[in-house]
Amino acid sequence: MIPFDYQRATDADAAVELVDGNPGAAFLGGGTNLVDHLKLGVAEPEMLVDVSRLPYDTVEPLPGGGVRIGSAVPNSDLAAHPVIREKYPVLSQALLAGASGQLRNLATTGGNLLQRTRCVYFQDVSTPCNKRDPGSGCSAREGYTRHHAILGASESCVATHPSDMAVALAMLDAVVQVQGPDGPREVPVTELHRLPGDEPQRDTVLGPADLITAVDLPEQAMAARSTYRKVRDRASYAFALVSVAGALDVVDGTIRQARIAFGGLAHKPWRATRAEEALRGGPATEEMFRAAADAELAEASPLQDNAFKVPMSRNTLVSVLRDLM
Ligand SMILES: Cc1cc2nc3c(=O)[nH]c(=O)nc-3n(C[C@H](O)[C@H](O)[C@H](O)COP(=O)(O)OP(=O)(O)OC[C@H]3O[C@@H](n4cnc5c(N)ncnc54)[C@H](O)[C@@H]3O)c2cc1C
Ligand code: SF4
Repeated sequence: MIPFDYQRATDADAAVELVDGNPGAAFLGGGTNLVDHLKLGVAEPEMLVDVSRLPYDTVEPLPGGGVRIGSAVPNSDLAAHPVIREKYPVLSQALLAGASGQLRNLATTGGNLLQRTRCVYFQDVSTPCNKRDPGSGCSAREGYTRHHAILGASESCVATHPSDMAVALAMLDAVVQVQGPDGPREVPVTELHRLPGDEPQRDTVLGPADLITAVDLPEQAMAARSTYRKVRDRASYAFALVSVAGALDVVDGTIRQARIAFGGLAHKPWRATRAEEALRGGPATEEMFRAAADAELAEASPLQDNAFKVPMSRNTLVSVLRDLM
């Protein structure tokens, strides 16, 4: 590991100032992703600015309804929080489906959102990777692609976004509070992560000195019956092959509204707007659920090792919607 400086930020402004204009500096949350990257040589920051002890460690009600989750709240505390469990069970379930108990104790809300892809070539510095080393090529394109994207990928990169929590937040229309060099701003979670295009090195729309301070969840009655299902190679400690976050509002057998997001399929949490649109106003039947899944997956473009993700996504979505009835 290359030596680096360590600073503990005293407040958000100081944290932003330390990173702004210093291309060798990076924020440090729980370190469960970034420190691995330091060890692997994937990241080589000259300075880590520790933001895990900033006063963003609470879950508070918002004045107009909903809740604000501080960026330093550990994943385990968030999953166990009584308001999250009661009003947003999909978020609690998604968090508990991720990593391990020990990792969740360290991992933070901000760091979880900004964790980087688990593409094995990205993590292996001996291989070409456009995300790690722009312009070097994509080893996955001709390599092993069981875990890679079937939606929204590009010639440059076919990686998937790994966070389970982010899938639930995208389904819930959560909004990220950002403190940047030009002051505070809000970014909807659905717009936070990018598709790779020809700049796969950029995972999100944030700049290097943009600090996540909180995530806001809007008040949402139907979220109280939301759910998360994750399909993976092992029962625990494995990233999603496919996951689905969903909620349904059904009255007298007719779907008033559906909220759906997929994980494991794309470079970002994939809000399934086509499926939601197909379901709206229709009968809550298995046939309808299948048609909605097909509408969303019509443009899926599987790679050599992951064609199974198409039927797996369809079946997982249908079973989630069936269970929400
Ligand atoms: C073995 C293993 C298995 C795992 N399995 C899963 C899984 O199944 N599902 C899943 O979702 N995750 C899984 N994870 C990933 C884990 O959830 C993430 O490592 C963790 O959430 C990252 O949070 P952190 O606070 O430790 O981030 P860090 O490692 O501290 O930081 C990650 C990134 O976020 C940036 N950052 C941190 N905080 C902020 C902030 N407030 N504002 C701006 N930037 C910030 C850092 O600069 C860095 O780029 C696994 C990890 C491991 C090691
Ligand atoms: S899929 Fe993306 S992250 Fe993986 S090797 Fe290709 S460019 Fe790198």
